[in-house]
Amino acid sequence: MTYEAPACSECGHPMNSGGLVSVTREDNGQRICRTLWRCPQGHVWWRWMDRPTEPLQMCPFSNLFR
Ligand SMILES: [Zn+2]
Repeated sequence: MTYEAPACSECGHPMNSGGLVSVTREDNGQRICRTLWRCPQGHVWWRWMDRPTEPLQMCPFSNLFR
């Protein structure tokens, strides 16, 4: 199985998995894991683990995870 890391939308570098973070989802109050992706330039992206087809979003708390 080949797995391709997503590219950073800001700088185009391939990203590394940054692990998981548990976040409360605003629309239904559930605590759900988000998968984090970091690029070598320090951009951090994430998306809901249960919605893998959604596009990655810029993580607003990137300073916390550095
Ligand atoms: Zn980047």
